[in-house]
Amino acid sequence: MQGHKRVLLAAPRGYCAGVDRAVVAVEKALERYGAPVYVRKQIVHNIHVVTELEAAGAIFVDEVDEVPAGAHVVFSAHGVSPAVVSAASDRGLQAIDATCPLVTKVHREAVRFAKSDYEILLIGHEGHEEVEGTAGEAPEHITIVNSPDHADEVEVKDPSKVVWLSQTTLSVDETMETVRRLRVRFPHLQDPPSDDICYATQNRQVAIKKVAKDADLVIVVGSANSSNSVRLVEVALEYGAKAAYRIDYADEIEQSWFDGVATVGVTSGASVPEVLVQEVLADLAGAGYRDVEEVKTAEEDLLFSLPKELRSDAAGNRDDRALGGRTTRP
Ligand code: SF4
Repeated sequence: MQGHKRVLLAAPRGYCAGVDRAVVAVEKALERYGAPVYVRKQIVHNIHVVTELEAAGAIFVDEVDEVPAGAHVVFSAHGVSPAVVSAASDRGLQAIDATCPLVTKVHREAVRFAKSDYEILLIGHEGHEEVEGTAGEAPEHITIVNSPDHADEVEVKDPSKVVWLSQTTLSVDETMETVRRLRVRFPHLQDPPSDDICYATQNRQVAIKKVAKDADLVIVVGSANSSNSVRLVEVALEYGAKAAYRIDYADEIEQSWFDGVATVGVTSGASVPEVLVQEVLADLAGAGYRDVEEVKTAEEDLLFSLPKELRSDAAGNRDDRALGGRTTRP
């Protein structure tokens, strides 16, 4: 029999500091330089954010050779390889680097270990923009490891000088399994100097684990190309949710999902504006799930200052974020 209908709302969820900074960077660039402002790749992996910025005058391109010479181009939160930076400079583009500082940290680690002649096993999804950017820092030294199974077959030249690094938005549990299997084969494998999987990815996974054990159904708001959103669906299923779905918008919810469902868990990926979650909650309320309980597992107050190119305006006013001000977005 179906019990009391309720929603468990995971917290933290939604925007992380790196996404907030990247989105505000495009908004500020539009404000300062006027439309159009070009953006290489989706600024963050969320269709709603991209559509709204397009409406405001941003033009998203795949590569910098699509940007008119001399124009402003923003590099996305996922980061770029040095080859992309050079190509932009060769074209005379005015680059604004919105790479998340936590991705830049992994780039720096890659450069440092490559300089010391380590082989770097980069755990991540081949083809993902962040992995392409990091691998491009030291292509001769980096091998991408896609999965725990791949760890059983990857080859290295010198097993005594190997380090692993990772993409920032992976499943923590799966990554640890990949590392465990790598270490069976390479006992001297070194760990990164600090966690590469970022605080936001980790916090959202911890929160959904707590929600999932009591949920008949979990709804994750996030886009299909958002790595951390897709991981939230997998983690929810692993930790006890009877079913879990990812949606971009509330109107993708299907009535058949609610058969026999008392408790619905809700969360959102790190690139998702809260307004989209509120629309889901409104739909759920309409279906009788009005009782909403927040399940909070961490507080987040991290805020990154804007890319240096946008930190002061022509009048010499500083970015309020650099002064510890609040973000301009929800
Ligand atoms: S998910 Fe993590 S690494 Fe990616 S933008 Fe957000 S804080 Fe940065």
